[in-house]
Amino acid sequence: MLDCQVIVIGAGIAGLSAASYLQQQGLKVVVLEARQRLGGRIHTTIDRWSIPIDLGASWIHGTEGNPIKKLATDFKIATAVTDYDSIDIFDYKGQPFSEFKWHKYAKIWRRAVKGARKNWHEDGCLQTVIDEMLASKSLSASQIRQLNYFINTEIEHEYGADLSELSAFKWDRDREFSGDDVFFPGGYTQIIDILAAGLEIKLEHRVERVSYDSHRVTVSTDCKEFTAAKAIVTLPLGVLKKQTVTFSPPLPIAKQKAIALLGVGILNKTYLHFPHAFWSDRSDLIGYIGKRKGEWMEFVNIYKYTGVPVLLGYNAGRYGSYLETLSDDEIVASMMAVLQTIYDRQIPQPTDYQITRWESDRYACGAYSFMTPGATGKTIKDLAKPINNCLFFAGEATSLHYPATVHGAYLSGIKAARSILKSTTD
Ligand SMILES: Cc1cc2nc3c(=O)[nH]c(=O)nc-3n(C[C@H](O)[C@H](O)[C@H](O)COP(=O)(O)OP(=O)(O)OC[C@H]3O[C@@H](n4cnc5c(N)ncnc54)[C@H](O)[C@@H]3O)c2cc1C
Repeated sequence: MLDCQVIVIGAGIAGLSAASYLQQQGLKVVVLEARQRLGGRIHTTIDRWSIPIDLGASWIHGTEGNPIKKLATDFKIATAVTDYDSIDIFDYKGQPFSEFKWHKYAKIWRRAVKGARKNWHEDGCLQTVIDEMLASKSLSASQIRQLNYFINTEIEHEYGADLSELSAFKWDRDREFSGDDVFFPGGYTQIIDILAAGLEIKLEHRVERVSYDSHRVTVSTDCKEFTAAKAIVTLPLGVLKKQTVTFSPPLPIAKQKAIALLGVGILNKTYLHFPHAFWSDRSDLIGYIGKRKGEWMEFVNIYKYTGVPVLLGYNAGRYGSYLETLSDDEIVASMMAVLQTIYDRQIPQPTDYQITRWESDRYACGAYSFMTPGATGKTIKDLAKPINNCLFFAGEATSLHYPATVHGAYLSGIKAARSILKSTTD
């Protein structure tokens, strides 16, 4: 006896887009989610401060043709533009540094990558590209700091990984929608709530085992077992890597290899709430060209958008991972040390903070996927490939064109749902 036609594992954006699409087509769907909440790597805290705070995704990257923007428009959810050119930059001594030339370092970077792609016979990591370039070009200490700032804020933050982890050939193989980057003043969770409406979702049901053949899937959770004709697995790549969910029979070798080869990046956010704003309300962003690459190089001025004195600091890759080993007090002190360098020793202590640790989060095990040396489009296709027309896969890491994004995860859910519909009519 089947519990439903389709089980969806995971109530992040991929699982919810798949479930909502299938239910609209008349299928009976059950969504199983380990957490007490919906949204996965979209997580808005609503009641803690006077403004919603997004601990996971914040932005719709590129509004033109973006399905998340369409949802926002259809459901009249307000968005606001972030202007990345609106930035106050400071050097490592905390002095304003308006002479930073983004285009100059973008050009140095592009040339180095192009050269490696032309001359190298096989893939390697981006760090080697930069090392080779620095060996042939003499840059001053200040120029190296600026290059590092460019690399960290433009590449390492976006991909959640250090240059030493990213593929030189494929790191940027993803596509982008054009248009502005916009965020939700009312929180990203509004999109989650739209998709989840009317679905049968079992929260606090941690999936432990998935048994399948060509006719049915049985999913065992820590509470109960569910059986359906088909299932969609939207477990994050980091969770699949940890093998905390058992598949029986084991996943095909090509899929296991893809899980091992693709990388899972780290991006962590630290929000500090102050008694009053001691920084300017003029710019969207604050840049810090510090001495150590990757440490507190970029802040978002939440005060500008909301009038609430909050600053958001980002850290990605290995430094983001290292920060997770520190206590909250140590992380706050570390961000404060940079703010004191930029502003003044006398700035007030924060009255509260919100800190993420996405790598230690057992139901995320990282922020989002990236291309390691040797990974290709085929690796992603292997990860996404259905098994026996019975077990389907979705989630940001399975998105060939838009990995590591909300829209990529959303579209992957729709794709898996359509494949299921097609397989039932074939
Ligand atoms: C800090 C940060 C900032 C980001 N910023 C942006 C941004 O600005 N714009 C953007 O487009 N993207 C951004 N992203 C990426 C985006 O959030 C993700 O790509 C997207 O939300 C992933 O959705 P998903 O459905 O694939 O995975 P998830 O949202 O992770 O959903 C998977 C679900 O599976 C559940 N699960 C895990 N294990 C089990 C289990 N054993 N049993 C049952 N359920 C389980 C999880 O709890 C989760 O709910 C950001 C991510 C992070 C971490």
